[in-house]
Amino acid sequence: MTDLRTLSLADMRDGLKAKKFSAVELANAHLAAIEKANPELNAFITITGDKALDMAKASDARLAKGEGRAIEGIPVGVKDLFCTKDVLTTAASHILDGFKPQYESTVTQKLWDAGGVMLGKLNLDEFAMGSSNLSSYYGPVVSPWRKVTGVGCRVSETAGISNPTPATCHPSPNLVPGGSSGGSAAAVAADLCPVALGTDTGGSIRQPASFSGIVGIKPTYGRCSRFGIIAFASSLDQAGPITRSVRDSAIMLSAMCGHDAKDSTSVNMQVPDFEAVLTGNIKGKKIGIPKECRPDGMAAEILAMWDRGIKLLRGAGAEIIDISLPHTKYALATYYVIAPAECSSNLARYDGVRFGLRVTPESGALNEMYEKTRAAGFGAEVKRRIMIGTYVLSAGYYDAYYKKAQRVRWLIAEDFRKAFEKVDAILTPTAPSAAFGFDYKPSDPVEMYLNDVFTVPSSLAGLPGISIPGALNKDGLPLGLQLIGKAFDEVTVLNTAYALEQAIGFNAKAERIAA
Ligand code: GLN
Repeated sequence: MTDLRTLSLADMRDGLKAKKFSAVELANAHLAAIEKANPELNAFITITGDKALDMAKASDARLAKGEGRAIEGIPVGVKDLFCTKDVLTTAASHILDGFKPQYESTVTQKLWDAGGVMLGKLNLDEFAMGSSNLSSYYGPVVSPWRKVTGVGCRVSETAGISNPTPATCHPSPNLVPGGSSGGSAAAVAADLCPVALGTDTGGSIRQPASFSGIVGIKPTYGRCSRFGIIAFASSLDQAGPITRSVRDSAIMLSAMCGHDAKDSTSVNMQVPDFEAVLTGNIKGKKIGIPKECRPDGMAAEILAMWDRGIKLLRGAGAEIIDISLPHTKYALATYYVIAPAECSSNLARYDGVRFGLRVTPESGALNEMYEKTRAAGFGAEVKRRIMIGTYVLSAGYYDAYYKKAQRVRWLIAEDFRKAFEKVDAILTPTAPSAAFGFDYKPSDPVEMYLNDVFTVPSSLAGLPGISIPGALNKDGLPLGLQLIGKAFDEVTVLNTAYALEQAIGFNAKAERIAA
C-alpha cells in the first residue's frame, strides 16, 4: 500500500474524495509517525491527537455526504505562534507558560472551516525571533537532514553541486532546520505533516524551507489576516504555508488568504484560485537578477545554484534581465532596527498580570513582579531585541535610528517598485548557506542575523516571496532559490516557481533520519 504520508496534497484530496482512504486513516498515519519521530526531532511542542481524530471523523462524515470542502481531511501542523482556542499556545517562550487562548486565529479558523485537520502545534524560535530554532524554550528542533560523507557523492557538471549516490550519514552534529518556523519545516520535511503553517517577518518561512529542502511562501503583507497570530513586528508579520511542493502551497494559500474585519491591515481583495493558475508557462516572462545579491565572498555553491536557476528559467522561455536594487544593501541594518522596535512594543504586554508566567516577589511589590517575571520569562535573544528596540525608540535616539530606518525602508520599497516596472519577478538565493550544525556558535549575534540577507529586503517592501529547493550542495544538503513578486501578484510568483520546480526536478528525499 502507498504510504499515505508521502502523497501530494492534491492526491490526498482526490484520494479522500474517491474514498480510497479515510481522513481518520490519514490522520492516524501522521499521528503514528509523529509519535515515533518527535522524541528525536522535537518538531511538535503539543500533539493534538484527540482533536485531530475528532476533526477527521467529522471530515469523513462530510465526505460521505459528498460535502467535502477545499482541504477536507487534510492534516495540518500549526506553528505555535497562532492562537488556537483552548489549545496550549506558547510562542516557544517560558513567559507564556500554560497559556490557552480563548479564541482562534483567523488563519487557523479559515483552515478548519475549509476542512483541515489539526495535528498539533509546532516548535519555533522564541517569539519567532531567530533563524535556527536554537532559541526555543522547548529546546531546539533537529533537522531530518544529515550531511553525507564525500564517499559516493557525484559532482554534477554544474560546478559545486553534487548528488549523493548513495549517501552515508554523518553521525553528528545535528543540523538546524532553520528558523523561526523550524518545527514547521522539519515536520514537513520528515513527512510528519503534508503542510504546516508558518509565519514570516524577515524570512522565517523561506529560510527554513530552504534549509529543509521544501517549499515555503510568504504572501504579500495584507493577504492573510494577522488576527490571533502572536505579534513580533506588526508591520512585517505574515502567515504562509510550508509544503513539499509549489502546488501544495498554492492550494493552502487559497484557503488561508482573505480580508478580515479583525485585522485592519488585511486587504479586501479577491483571493485567486492559486492552484488553477499553475500552467507552468512562463514564456516571455521577465525575470530580474539583482546585482546586489552577489556580494564579495559569497559561497561558490550558492552562486552555482543561483546560476543554474537562471539558466533553467531562460530554458523555460523567460527573459533574464539584470537589475539593481541599490538600497537593499541597507536592508539588514534597517530590519534589525524596525523589527526590534516593534517587538519591544508588542512584548510589553507580557507583564505577569494577564497570562502566562508570574514570578511573585517576596516584597509583593508590583514593579518587582514585572521585573522578575520578564527576567525569568524571556530568553536571551528576546531580551536583546527588547533592549535594542527600546533603545532605538527612546528620546534622543528615535530620529537617528528608528526614523532613519523608516526612511530607508521606503527607499528599499521604491527600488523594488522601479525594478517591477521592468520585470515580472526577481530571482535570488534564499539564504547565504545550507543548514548549519548545532555546534555553530556565532561569535556575535549579528552573524546569525546575516542569514536573513536575501529575505529581509522583500519583507521590508511587503512583497510576496517563495523559496523552492534549488539543489543539494556537496554535503548533500539542500539550498533554496527565492522568487519575489509584485505586491499581490502571488499568481506570477507561484507560476514561475512551479515552472522552475519542474525544470529543477528536485527529488531528494534521501537521508532523512525520521520515521
Ligand atoms: N530571522 C529573522 C529574525 O530573527 C526573521 C524572523 C522571522 O521572520 N520571524 O528576526
